[in-house]
Amino acid sequence: MDTLTAFANEKLARMEDRSLRRTLKPTRRLDGAWVEREGRRLVSFSCNDYLALSGHPVVRAAAIRAVETYGTGAGASRLVTGDHPLLGELEARLATLKGAEAACVFGSGYLANAGIIPTFVGPGDLVLADEWAHACIWAGAKLSGAETLPFRHNDVADLSAKLAIGSRAGRRMLVATDGVFSMDGDVAPLGAISAACEAHGAWLLVDDAHGLGVLGGGSGTARLFPGARVDLAMGTLSKAIGGYGAYVCASAPVIDLIKSRARTLVYTTGLPPANTAAALAALDVIDAEPERVAAPLARARRFTVALDLPEAQSAVVPIILGEASTALEAAADLERRGLLAVAIRPPTVPAGTARLRLAFSAAHSEEQVDRLAEAVRPWLAQ
Ligand SMILES: *Cc1c(COP(=O)(O)O)cnc(C)c1O
Repeated sequence: MDTLTAFANEKLARMEDRSLRRTLKPTRRLDGAWVEREGRRLVSFSCNDYLALSGHPVVRAAAIRAVETYGTGAGASRLVTGDHPLLGELEARLATLKGAEAACVFGSGYLANAGIIPTFVGPGDLVLADEWAHACIWAGAKLSGAETLPFRHNDVADLSAKLAIGSRAGRRMLVATDGVFSMDGDVAPLGAISAACEAHGAWLLVDDAHGLGVLGGGSGTARLFPGARVDLAMGTLSKAIGGYGAYVCASAPVIDLIKSRARTLVYTTGLPPANTAAALAALDVIDAEPERVAAPLARARRFTVALDLPEAQSAVVPIILGEASTALEAAADLERRGLLAVAIRPPTVPAGTARLRLAFSAAHSEEQVDRLAEAVRPWLAQ
């Protein structure tokens, strides 16, 4: 056997032993919250399509129309010929929604953070990121070459202490955090974080992947903290917006610099027309249907009330079970009951905190939420 194949086999066997091997499971998303896996229909609590917009007739029609008008691909980097007219329209729309001067659309959330952070910091600078921040924030920080330190989760005192050391040393500093934490569903204290950044002359990037479309009347977490200054308001179009792609909103010069320098914008093909049009149509639906926007949080709260858990702050509720093997057993138990809740294991979450990560959506009926609560109840006593 060649050595590369032997290497892979050995790594896989070690992951298997620790219940950490991952495999892809073909999943067909059906109507509402239903999915089909291995021939079975399940109610999914593991999709981030919080507003059920990925299958919405208006959104689908917009995507189809864009393919008919502009074709399937952007054809080049946006800086060459890939800047099709829908991109500028979407950027203007997002900037208005976020109350910013300008916006830049990226190919995905991962690409956005991998490009934005190195645009503003480099060797000698300091990035301070919440220890639970999304993997792509760490990737962007690492790519930047800046020194990167975690601060304790949602701990503004710890952040301030680290900022004070950095500012005494005269370093350029960027603070990065999720607005809603993707695996825990809690919300960052953006008011206090923003004040600490201002006090120490640091810039603030907020990744609002799970806030947009769900919190703050759909505009995201920043709205929950009036007065908070977010220099780089980033988010994705792949969750509540129901499609693919991402954005950052900021001042016009900041966006201009990103468009000239972010390598994940400059050296990659523009977001396809269909995804861009779908996002525009999704934003129309969000504007027109406040009750849809309110639904995911209401469903999540119904669930936490039913089980006497701390009140849900977002559409994401974790059920932390500890060992990876326990989370896998719980997921298998729920699946036997017709409910899909994928086990989340290290390294996505810290060792010893494997969990079911439940995502609530406007597509869930109250009856489905109640059924989930009854299925999860025995696992809480573990
Ligand atoms: C999902 C997610 C991303 C990545 O977004 P994609 O568009 O899927 O690449 C980034 N940040 C957070 C917090 C996320 O949850």
